[in-house]
Amino acid sequence: MTLSMNTPEFLVERNLDRCIKCQVCVGQCANEVHKYDKETDSLSCEDLACVGCHRCVTLCPTHALTIKKFPLEFRTNANWTPSTINAIYKQAESGGILLTGMGNDKPYPIYWDHLLLNASQVTNPSIDPLREPMEVKTYLGRKPDKLDFSDGELLTEIAPQVELELPIMFSAMSFGSISLNAVKSLAAAAKEVGTMFNTGEGGLHQDLYSYGDNAIVQVASGRFGVHSQYLEAGTAIEIKIGQGAKPGIGGHLPGEKVGREVSETRMIPEGSDALSPAPHHDIYSIEDLRQLIYSLKEATRYKKPVAVKIAAVHNVAAIASGIARAGADIITIDGFRGGTGATPLRTRDNVGIPIELALAAVDSRLRNESIRHQVSLVVAGSLRNSADVMKAIALGADAVYIASSALLALGCHMCQKCYTGKCNWGIATQDPNLVKRLNPEIGAQRAANLLRAWKHEIKEMLGGMGINAIESLRGNRLMLRGVGLSDRDLEILGVKAAGE
Ligand code: SF4
Ligand code: SF4
Ligand code: SF4
Repeated sequence: MTLSMNTPEFLVERNLDRCIKCQVCVGQCANEVHKYDKETDSLSCEDLACVGCHRCVTLCPTHALTIKKFPLEFRTNANWTPSTINAIYKQAESGGILLTGMGNDKPYPIYWDHLLLNASQVTNPSIDPLREPMEVKTYLGRKPDKLDFSDGELLTEIAPQVELELPIMFSAMSFGSISLNAVKSLAAAAKEVGTMFNTGEGGLHQDLYSYGDNAIVQVASGRFGVHSQYLEAGTAIEIKIGQGAKPGIGGHLPGEKVGREVSETRMIPEGSDALSPAPHHDIYSIEDLRQLIYSLKEATRYKKPVAVKIAAVHNVAAIASGIARAGADIITIDGFRGGTGATPLRTRDNVGIPIELALAAVDSRLRNESIRHQVSLVVAGSLRNSADVMKAIALGADAVYIASSALLALGCHMCQKCYTGKCNWGIATQDPNLVKRLNPEIGAQRAANLLRAWKHEIKEMLGGMGINAIESLRGNRLMLRGVGLSDRDLEILGVKAAGE
């Protein structure tokens, strides 16, 4: 056997004074870190297998466990960091692409944290959201060039709209990449709060057709689970061209995750790999995209808005302009910090651009071309809290998608090992024993609570600005100021520096 150079990432420590040998940790760790030896009546740990998911720590009844970063010092070297060295060891052993899960964790600037919101003081007094109505309802879809009335009656035909009780939706996460219980949790939460969940490219499980009014159904390059009933079921249809965590490449759900239900929902053989090609094989131009947009509109009798989702890449503004002109009703832009179930590490960490810059560039370009009203803009890619949502809307978004935040609400502990299929929290797994760990009713309550909490905070902050409708914040970059940003960054973001 060749010697492995891999060293543990985490150190698992058990306080023997506290441990009551209940073996909960043994049963709860799908990575088999904890072992119980009957003969010696003792527990041991295989540190190398620990992914730092905190399941055992959370469930240990006596709080006997601690997980620490494994204390292994390399000689200090600003160029050859431990993670760079360990990646080379791994590839020297496997000869394969390094995979990871969730979003880019590299220390690129987080522009949200360099933008500050405004507040009213004397002349434009704040509004108390507890006493006065605050409107955060949002409509996504093409808006008319102008409104015609006759005797007070609206004559203009309004294109189909997605109606949201708040400008936050659950982003595309497929059944297959996450468990059915996770999808059910998000679907039920979306219904309860009055927003949308997104099927991702995995089709719509039969149990979820009753949530169609709260579903955005996705059409991706693999066309998994796409049929007329599916298109009819959703409130809107989203064509997926790209994804922030892996711009320019396709997807791959390994055959071992394609059990009976995933296979039926995706309409592929059980146990077969679900490969989504990088390009749609019928789209090589904006004209081809236009054909697919109108095929989907035709197939649903022009009753559903059609969205196009792209990754935030260097020339995103020009791409978005083309998509708007191709007839899309909604453009979804996914920034480079967007999460995923599985992606090549190098692509995730080195391809794409921050959503903040992409959003500002797209909104400005569509305004300059006088076509901003023809599409709604939805942004995704690490919206971490209600303040990020407010800043996105002030930069020009109509609404945002959240995914990682939603999974954290369900119990995710950001271990980034979603691609292994051994999610100890029952989220990114198809293992029946692990899936059961997520109760969809509890999951729905937690996800709904998160949205309710953010909605309260949004109303609070809007009131503080003296604004009583989210519509008045949309694209209102005067409500933002930048701190610690270069002149060029401020120029692209279209915001003034703090103090100006
Ligand atoms: S769960 Fe806690 S108390 Fe139970 S065996 Fe593990 S460390 Fe000991
Ligand atoms: S992988 Fe998770 S459950 Fe297993 S030992 Fe590590 S922290 Fe505990
Ligand atoms: S979903 Fe599960 S596997 Fe993925 S990061 Fe969260 S806890 Fe880890």
